[in-house]
Amino acid sequence: MKNSVLIFGDQLSLQNTALGAAECERDVVVLVEARDSGRAHKIKRVFQFTAMREFAELLRENGWEVDYRKMGEAPQFIDALKDHLERHSPDSLLVMEPNNWSQQEILKSIAASGVAVQTTPTCQFMTPREEFFRFAKGKKRLLMEAHYRQARKKLGILMRDDGEPEGGSWNYDAENRKTVRDWKKDGAPKPPPAITRRRNQSAVAAAVAAEVTQWFPEDVGRAEDCWLPTTREGALEALEQFIETRLPLFGDYQDLMLQDSPTMFHSLIAAPLNLGLLLPMECVTAAERAYKLGHAPLAAVEGFVRQIIGWREFVNGVYWLKMPDYLQTNGLGATRKLPAFFYSAETEMNCLRCVIQEVRDTAYNHHIQRLMILGNFLLLAGISPKEAHEWFLEMYVDAHEWVMAANVLGMALHADGGFMATKPYAGSAAYISKMGNYCSGCSFDPNKKSGPGACPFNLLYWDFYDRHADRFASNPRTSMMVSAWRKRPEAEREAIRHEAAKVLAGLT
Ligand SMILES: Cc1cc2nc3c(=O)[nH]c(=O)nc-3n(C[C@H](O)[C@H](O)[C@H](O)COP(=O)(O)OP(=O)(O)OC[C@H]3O[C@@H](n4cnc5c(N)ncnc54)[C@H](O)[C@@H]3O)c2cc1C
Ligand code: SF4
Repeated sequence: MKNSVLIFGDQLSLQNTALGAAECERDVVVLVEARDSGRAHKIKRVFQFTAMREFAELLRENGWEVDYRKMGEAPQFIDALKDHLERHSPDSLLVMEPNNWSQQEILKSIAASGVAVQTTPTCQFMTPREEFFRFAKGKKRLLMEAHYRQARKKLGILMRDDGEPEGGSWNYDAENRKTVRDWKKDGAPKPPPAITRRRNQSAVAAAVAAEVTQWFPEDVGRAEDCWLPTTREGALEALEQFIETRLPLFGDYQDLMLQDSPTMFHSLIAAPLNLGLLLPMECVTAAERAYKLGHAPLAAVEGFVRQIIGWREFVNGVYWLKMPDYLQTNGLGATRKLPAFFYSAETEMNCLRCVIQEVRDTAYNHHIQRLMILGNFLLLAGISPKEAHEWFLEMYVDAHEWVMAANVLGMALHADGGFMATKPYAGSAAYISKMGNYCSGCSFDPNKKSGPGACPFNLLYWDFYDRHADRFASNPRTSMMVSAWRKRPEAEREAIRHEAAKVLAGLT
């Protein structure tokens, strides 16, 4: 009996349970660098393919036979896999539970062709899908907080012996929302630069960069600018560096957006975590250890733990609960095309210009930039969720369908009708100028609600509540905005509608 072990490009861990179910002396591992995965930032491709090649090398060093298909040999993932199966004729194909729907479809089609496919449980999440489905059963809306508390209890993270949360509270968010003014009052602490250009110039990365440039010349970004760790050792080092240098202030400035400090105190671990170079539990326990050693305050550590045990697992659960229909969801009927400046960064709106330029350069923005600058604009402007989702999937180094879908469609665009967010994340310039320092370099005025120089976020914000007034009037979390809008004199409302229409007409 001989098996093949399929390792998808986002399952690069020696803890991969399909390896555990196989025998090194007998079975063969197959990895495929697919060229058919749509458009992607060059940094993202270099990161993924370099990590795959380094992982294949690690497997060989550990005694495994590896059939590795490089991008030049694999125009279609499924064809490369079928070719492998024909050559090796395994008794079965072992594979760890896939992370994405399309990967599951590939496995189904392989099984339909008569190959025995055996799936093993994932090591990349702490909440099994079935457990999440039980949690969601019968609920019209899901609350992340309920999932988070349940997961913390189950995993015993930041829990006291008496079953209560460490520090007596589940949530320290109120302490984690420092504004630009607070930051200045605190002496304007700056994080050490976390993205260093050309850090990653291993021979493997350089070869992959040259191939990516050859195969994907039209894609965004520069292949030689990949800055991410591509091995397990590198990823552990990056995690340690975050815990030592940025975690203590992670909580305080979690929501802050500074033009000259694009990563702030964020961890930058989503990309290696989503490829399997790191596992979620080790990230969480490293942070908990820092708290126990007195190196980082509870509010920062709880904030970080919440992102991983809470949000990361939650969006994964929502994805599997709602697929495949979730990708078609468009609860607000948004149909406008994505403006071209989402690629060129050529816009007079300074916040959008800076954030888009950063993602063009590095394939990264932090959470609040994604949610409250980019997502907020796409929501207010009524951009098609499908186009927005595809753009996010293309541009971010940590983007995978399982994590993007609920974040973009559910959280940012409210396209799922509020299934996973009780109110839309809509904000005017007041929010952006409080939490960021973009407005001082902008040709628009964040304080002007209408008239010449008025910030487009202000115009679109009220126009959004006007367009969707009936829907949001009955939601207790948004009814105040709708009644504030309705109380304004009709002439004022008409002027805002008119100016907003001009902004929208200019989005090409
Ligand atoms: C519109 C939009 C698109 C997003 N797309 C992605 C994506 O493609 N891939 C991705 O991993 N995250 C995505 N996120 C979630 C979050 O923005 C990123 O995980 C985070 O910015 C990655 O940077 P970091 O590693 O420095 O995270 P940190 O801010 O340091 O957070 C720590 C970790 O928590 C996890 N995390 C935090 N928030 C979320 C969340 N909402 N969903 C899932 N995991 C979370 C990530 O693993 C992250 O590495 C998106 C959020 C929004 C609003
Ligand atoms: S004024 Fe408006 S468009 Fe300009 S940076 Fe501020 S929020 Fe963005």
